[in-house]
Order: sequence, then structure tokens, then C-alpha cells
Amino acid sequence: MNNQERIAIVTGGGRGIGRATAIALAKEGYQVVINYAGNQAAAEETKALCLAANPSATPLVIGADISTEEGATTLINQTMEAFGRIDILVNNAGITRDTLLLRMKAEDFDAVIGTNLRGAFLCTKAVTKPMMKQRFGRIINISSVVGVHGNAGQANYAASKAGLIGFTKSVAKELATRGITANAIAPGWIGTDMTQDLSDATKASIAAQIPMNRMGAPEDVANAVLFFAKEESAYVTGQVLLVDGGMGM
Ligand code: NDP
Repeated sequence: MNNQERIAIVTGGGRGIGRATAIALAKEGYQVVINYAGNQAAAEETKALCLAANPSATPLVIGADISTEEGATTLINQTMEAFGRIDILVNNAGITRDTLLLRMKAEDFDAVIGTNLRGAFLCTKAVTKPMMKQRFGRIINISSVVGVHGNAGQANYAASKAGLIGFTKSVAKELATRGITANAIAPGWIGTDMTQDLSDATKASIAAQIPMNRMGAPEDVANAVLFFAKEESAYVTGQVLLVDGGMGM
């Protein structure tokens, strides 16, 4: 199959890493579904950017809260109705509710786990059947270096991202004989809305921990997604690729 016949869903595709990923996939010829939770304007802007990158693309925007069973099912069902197949799922939607453990409320913990981990589980479960039927699938989970190393003030977020790594490896083992791969990408510090509010002092202290001494761009992560999405990457599964300027070495 050529890329034009392949359908890719990017959860949280309206902004940041998700937007860069949707555009990169569209540029490579994939048909892209851009999912968002609340910011429709950003998702429509991403759609326009996908079309600018590839005028023969037919990007589809779907609003759905993937942390709920109903939202995840809506996203997958509407994609199947529009395209009849799903080849690539990028579980990218994510949130933070940072605070020190002593101040962290149970709802801050649940909200982050609910979107970052439960949402990935719900979307992956829903795509598994169509992918098994096709005997082809690429599941790509956006974890974080924080899921590998931990980070003060992010116990909820780190737990969700570490959970995503265990989830990825389990799914990879379950689906390995079905032509479906599951891999995780662990970005380091990437310039997006999620990281823009950090103080200059925090930014300087993070940069000091990165051998490249700078933050990465959303496109750096998108490029790693392209690798895992490829038909030729069929023998790579259960891996965690750090895209972090050397931070996690
Ligand atoms: P942004 O805050 O820029 O974008 C997050 C996206 O997720 C938005 O499009 C948002 O939708 C969407 N989203 C949030 N909750 C839901 C939900 N319940 N259902 C559907 N969509 C949802 O984040 P980034 O681009 O920075 O991060 C993307 C991923 O990369 C996240 O998983 C994050 O944890 C991970 N990551 C980011 C790093 C960084 O330094 N930026 C580092 C490591 C990992 P809407 O636009 O509608 O609000």
C-alpha cells in the first residue's frame, strides 16, 4: 500500500507535538485525522497546515475527549465511517497538573492518568480490532523522559508516562504476530504550550541538564513518529525512543 491509502489518527493533534506530527504525516502522504478536546480553532488551523503541506490530503478534524470511553469510541468509529480503516494511531493527547506530592489532590492525579494513560488505553483498545483485521497497524505512544527518570512536582505525570511504557511493551507482545507494532517515544523538553509558562530560571536549569543545551522542537518528535509509522519499520516493536537532546543518557 502507498501512504495515501494509509489512515493516521493523532490524538491531541490540534497543537504542539500533535500538530507537528499531523503535518509531517500529511506531508508524507498519509490521510490524517486530527483529534482535539476543546480547542477547535487550533485543530482547524492544523487541518489548513496539513492541506498546505499536501494539497491532495483529506484531513479530518474530530472533537472528542479521549479520556472517556464515549470520546475514544466516537473518534475511532467516525474515522472508520470516513475512511474504512485505521493504520496508525498516535496516542499524543496529554495534560499536566504539576505540584509537589504533599499538595497533589487525588483529582489532579486522576485527571492526568485519565487523559495520558487511560485515554491511550481506550483508543488503542478501540483500534485493535480493525488493525487485527487488516493485519497491519502502528501504535505510537508519546511518553516522556519524565516517565523514565521521574521528576519532582510531576508524580502524577511521571506515573502516567511510565505506565504508558509498560502499556506499550505489553501491547507490543500481544499484537506482535498480527502485523501490529507498538512503540513509545519519550521526548525531553519540547517547546510547546505545555512548556511555555516555565520561568526563565527553570528553563535555564533544564537546559543545563541537556547535553545539547537547548529545548527541542515539536518537529523533532514528529520525525520519530514518521519512523515508527513506516511500513518498513515492521520489525521494530516494544521500543522506547528518547528524543531529548541527550538528556536521558
Ligand atoms: P500541548 O499542551 O501543546 O497540546 C496538548 C494536546 O492534547 C492539545 O491538542 C489538546 O487538545 C490535547 N488534549 C488534551 N486532553 C485531551 C483529551 N482529553 N482528549 C483529546 N485531546 C486532548 O502539549 P504538547 O504538544 O507539549 O504535548 C503532547 C504530548 O507530548 C503530551 O502527551 C505530552 O505529555 C508529551 N510530552 C511533551 C513534552 C514537552 O516538553 N512539551 C515532553 C514530553 C512529552 P486541545 O487543543 O483541544 O486542548
